[in-house]
Amino acid sequence: MAKKKAPRRNVKTSTAAVKRRKVPRRRPEPPDPLLAPVKGAERRDIGHVRLEVGRAGAARVKRMVYPVGFRWSVDMKPAVGTDLCMHAHVGFLARGEIHVEYADGCVVEHRAPQIVAIEPGHDGWVVGNEPVVLIEFDFESDTVSRLGMPDAHRHR
Ligand SMILES: [Zn+2]
Repeated sequence: MAKKKAPRRNVKTSTAAVKRRKVPRRRPEPPDPLLAPVKGAERRDIGHVRLEVGRAGAARVKRMVYPVGFRWSVDMKPAVGTDLCMHAHVGFLARGEIHVEYADGCVVEHRAPQIVAIEPGHDGWVVGNEPVVLIEFDFESDTVSRLGMPDAHRHR
């Protein structure tokens, strides 16, 4: 930590000091709101995914940050224990690009900004050199039914 300078008191202001003060101060870059800590949210780190979750009415809102190179079947599968991701992901892809593959071979690609509704039963990974930021809504164990999503990807 840098030492704090003692406050200067009763120092006569020289002309030079007055001139210096008129020069606008350079402010530090504001933090990126898509990546900065979310006020009031609980932070978790699971399978290299940074997740911040908070309550909103009966729902939860989550901001997920998936790192470059993330792949569900490599990074998350060992922690989850299912063959495919069985969560429904409904929300807003705010940054980056994702590739989703369902068990039957169907492929979906999403690129920010985009609204997403990914059905249970998929693998997925981050495309390109930018972390993915996904803002999701869920109802914990009731997510699929309350969002009106199918319980698995299929064709009628
Ligand atoms: Zn399909």
